[in-house]
Amino acid sequence: MQWLYCDFHIHTTWSDGACSLDRVVELYGEAGFDVIAITDHVLDTESVTRSGRPASMLGAVRREEFAAYQEALWAAARKSWEKYGMLLIPGVELTNNTSRYHILSLDIKEYISPDHDVETIIAKTRQQQGLTVACHPCVRNHSGEEPSVHLWNNHERYASMFDAWEVANRDDLYSVVGLKKFNYIANSDFHEERHLLSWKTLLRCDKNTEAVKEAIRTNDRVSLFLYRGGKIR
Ligand code: ZN
Ligand code: ZN
Repeated sequence: MQWLYCDFHIHTTWSDGACSLDRVVELYGEAGFDVIAITDHVLDTESVTRSGRPASMLGAVRREEFAAYQEALWAAARKSWEKYGMLLIPGVELTNNTSRYHILSLDIKEYISPDHDVETIIAKTRQQQGLTVACHPCVRNHSGEEPSVHLWNNHERYASMFDAWEVANRDDLYSVVGLKKFNYIANSDFHEERHLLSWKTLLRCDKNTEAVKEAIRTNDRVSLFLYRGGKIR
């Protein structure tokens, strides 16, 4: 069994990413990655942009678009597997900017509102056999923002409720996540091509969605690496 090169936090033009879904598959596929998750933003209803525009006007997947988003991801997953042997896992980033938590829900089939509280989001994801990941739990050096401050302020309560926490997000390393011995993964939070060069996850498991989810949950054959370009394989 070999180590799989993975990235579980990627945005496309379905939300605020600069690259189309097809371009993302091409970039990661050509680089030789084994597993990616597409996690476009779903925003809480109170969210506003810095310019003051409401969530409904932001780049995010809306409830009524969710079925089309899922269909696009499944079509991309087929292409990704056929062309590159790369597993694509559909997901979302449930983005609550009012209460300040960002949560990845991976391999969900039904829409989940980011307006729910954290426990409900985790429960609803689990009901769908999905996986939850606490995103960028500490301050982000490149922006100085703490969009998930609620998760870190309550990390003792949420510690084992999440399937994993991001120990790294793009350029940032959160050593406290490692020190707390939380389940961890590392992701790019990809929004544009240069974000490909960033922290990523290595998993030692079979290349299928169930095996990948189980490897994250058990978290005993997981590592991180800093991808700096070129072909992995
Ligand atoms: Zn986020
Ligand atoms: Zn993100």
